[in-house]
Order: sequence, then structure tokens, then C-alpha cells
Amino acid sequence: MNTLTYQEQLRKKLDQVEARIAAACQRSGRKREEVNIIAVTKYVDGEAIGEILSAGIQHIGENRVQDALPKYEMYGERGTWHFIGHLQTNKVKDVVGRFSYIHSLDRFSLAEAINKRAETLNLVVPCFVQVNIAEEPTKFGLSTKELFAFLDETSNMKHINVIGLMTMAPNVDNQEEVRPIFRQLREWKEKINLRAYPHAHIRELSMGMSGDFEVAIEEGATYIRLGSILVKPDELS
Ligand SMILES: *Cc1c(COP(=O)(O)O)cnc(C)c1O
Repeated sequence: MNTLTYQEQLRKKLDQVEARIAAACQRSGRKREEVNIIAVTKYVDGEAIGEILSAGIQHIGENRVQDALPKYEMYGERGTWHFIGHLQTNKVKDVVGRFSYIHSLDRFSLAEAINKRAETLNLVVPCFVQVNIAEEPTKFGLSTKELFAFLDETSNMKHINVIGLMTMAPNVDNQEEVRPIFRQLREWKEKINLRAYPHAHIRELSMGMSGDFEVAIEEGATYIRLGSILVKPDELS
């Protein structure tokens, strides 16, 4: 029987994750402060988010609007909220103004909807463009071939600030296999910045999940999105 409280489980997992992050930073000559942990809370309820914030994790990631809203009502003021899942244009009104960052900007119609809603609220929304580097048919995101055209088409949108790129790597057993994916995302950051778009200065890379965050850090991740390894209660894992 498991006798640890959720808070104790969380602290233990956070310690383990922190040790692995520190080692990955050391291997790649990076500073720990350059890497932010987003706790992906799709597996847990609102109460658990309170515990996660109390454990000292600032960034909360949710991927479904309906599930996220009640949790946001409880703890929206305390954390920094990231929308990381596929976003339908009719849900944009619920996300803009609540979530500080959108990681899943992947098409022109979504950019238009975000820009319009943000204009109404007099906000600028920091966004990550989601890139489907591996061109997996089951995943969302622009292909690299579409990136420049997308940035050209959105460059007059004053209420969108593209601060980063996001990718989800294929699910593999050995994380070394996805290193080239993360490396390519970093190279696209440089290529985009050379073009000096008015609305897109890429500083952030949102890449790396429970199974591949160490390689992502070695390749330059600034936000890693951790769900199962960090916040899933033991009973469910
Ligand atoms: C679920 C999810 C994660 C976290 O996945 P784990 O493998 O559980 O760490 C990260 N990013 C996105 C977009 C997700 O939907």
C-alpha cells in the first residue's frame, strides 16, 4: 500500500526530476535557470494543482479548454498558465485573457482568432508556433516548409507575439532517437530570427516531455512539459 500523501509523492518526484535536469544542464553547459518546468495537469484535478503550486512549481499546462476552465477558476491567480493542446477557434475566447501563453499556434485561422480576441481585450498574447518536425500525420503543427509563409502572413498581427517554437517528438523507447527533432527545432529558431519578423523574435523552445526531456534540454529547451513523470499520482501510474 502506498502511504505517501500526494504532496510527498510530488516532492519526491520533483527531487528526482530536478537531479536529472541538473545533470542534463551540466552535460550541455547550460544553466538550470534557463529551463522552466511546466507541470502538465491534464491527469489531475483542481485540488492537485493547489498542491503542485505549493510544491513550488509556477507553470501549469493544460491541453483541453473544458477541463482547464474549472481548474483555472480555482487557481488561475496563483500560477502561470500555459495552453498546450490543440485549440479550436471557437474556444479562443476562453483562453485569451486567462492563459499567459499559447503553445499550439498552428494555422492562420487560429492566429486571426487570437489576434482579434486579444485586440478586444487590449492584450498581446505570447505564442509558440507548433511545428510538426517529424511530419507525423497524427500530430498537429505546421511543417517546416510552411513556417516562413505562416510568419509572413501573420506579420501584421499586432496582438500576437511569437516568442517561441513548440514541438512534440514521436514516442520512442530511446530518447536519443528524437535528438535530431529537437536539434532541428533549435535550428529553425535561428533561421526565423535571421529574418527579423516584427512579431516573431524567437527566444523560447517548448520541447521535451516525460520520456525525452533530458535530450530536449541538451538541445536547448527552455520549457519542458512534464505530465506523467511528475504529477500523476502513484496509484494511476
Ligand atoms: C500530455 C502532454 C504532455 C505531457 O506528457 P507526458 O509524457 O505525460 O509528460 C506534454 N505536452 C503536451 C502537448 C501534452 O498534451
